[in-house]
Amino acid sequence: MKTFDVIIAGGGLAGLATAAQLVEKNKALKVLVYEAYQIGQGASGVPAGMVNPATGQRARMVWNAEACFKMLDKRLDQLSASSNTVLKNQHGILRPAIDENLAENFRMSLKNTRWPKGWIEWLEPDQVRQRVPQLKESSGALYMDKGKVVRTPEYLNAYSRYLKEAGVTFVFGGPYSIDNRGDWCLKNRKNAFTAPVLVVTTGYKAKENKYWSELPLNSVKGQLAIYYCPENVGHFPAVSAYGYIAPVDDHHLAVGSTYEHHFHDENPDARGAGLLDQKLLELLPDLYPKCQRIGQWSGIRATTPDRLPIAGKHFERKGLYIYAGLGSKGLLYSEFVASLLATHITEGKDLPYEISLYRFSKMEELREKAREDNESGS
Ligand SMILES: Cc1cc2nc3c(=O)[nH]c(=O)nc-3n(C[C@H](O)[C@H](O)[C@H](O)COP(=O)(O)OP(=O)(O)OC[C@H]3O[C@@H](n4cnc5c(N)ncnc54)[C@H](O)[C@@H]3O)c2cc1C
Repeated sequence: MKTFDVIIAGGGLAGLATAAQLVEKNKALKVLVYEAYQIGQGASGVPAGMVNPATGQRARMVWNAEACFKMLDKRLDQLSASSNTVLKNQHGILRPAIDENLAENFRMSLKNTRWPKGWIEWLEPDQVRQRVPQLKESSGALYMDKGKVVRTPEYLNAYSRYLKEAGVTFVFGGPYSIDNRGDWCLKNRKNAFTAPVLVVTTGYKAKENKYWSELPLNSVKGQLAIYYCPENVGHFPAVSAYGYIAPVDDHHLAVGSTYEHHFHDENPDARGAGLLDQKLLELLPDLYPKCQRIGQWSGIRATTPDRLPIAGKHFERKGLYIYAGLGSKGLLYSEFVASLLATHITEGKDLPYEISLYRFSKMEELREKAREDNESGS
């Protein structure tokens, strides 16, 4: 039996960021990251992830955008330096207004939102043509200088190396069972690990954990394809328009992604490939014939009804925590929310209501019921 202070189940963006924030708050903590398969096995393995502060058709600023950017940028710089690897493309993000309605929404966002200085600007159609000559005609575009594309697999690699050096233990151990007799005990076929604190960061699989089966998480499959272009595609901003096209390097583009609310299996399929080809053709019609699809990837996002992550403590089970529901903004939210959760675990500081479990009535009901059962001694 191996003993730790904290066990984190799940080695995606949420799990790694939580481990880092915990050990950085208290170097003496013994932390285990228990990953059933491999780092980046889940949605976090997305080959190219956009970091986009303006969300949805109304280009709303994401929750706590400044803090999220600050913490992610710090981590990217740190890991880039420690691994000597390029982890991001910093050419901004362009959101073309592909019709007049979107153009109006985007202008309203600029007018009504207090965007930090220098983050966002409106480009007229001729300015858009200058920035991305290959892009189809638009009614103008929002350009977000802060936006970037992260090479997520490299980021996760650099992240796990850093954590190992910081003393975090990693175990890749397949399925496990959990037992709670005082401390949490996680057992797989070969070993058992115990800790007073267990943090579940298993993405959309969190609902399969018996203690978290009532979480309001939806699973949304997404597919992404990589295209090779023999001619140099140049340094243009990532384009986000009902999906995205992100230059990975001089000759490769990532095109994402599908949003599949109903799916039979988790693997990439021909329908997804067709939709992604179509997206590339629609947005970059001149480049499309020169590109060849050379790879396809799929993953399952866990989303919440209000599209914000969920983090917090179980209403009944001492020492049990959850961090999930990062939706399509895993990169942006991962570090900031992990820091709030780590402070909640180590210092008992409340989490903001916007990301707490109890903003959902079902979870609040369960907490109430547990409280009543406790009081009546049942
Ligand atoms: C197609 C697609 C495109 C995306 N694009 C972007 C983007 O551009 N920008 C962005 O920010 N985000 C993007 N996302 C979303 C982002 O990938 C997710 O929000 C984020 O990865 C979720 O991280 P997570 O750690 O919560 O979950 P996951 O990455 O799913 O990690 C969960 C981990 O837990 C492991 N696991 C599962 N069950 C167990 C178990 N029982 N025990 C132990 N381990 C277990 C899994 O193997 C996995 O490694 C995209 C997602 C998809 C699918």
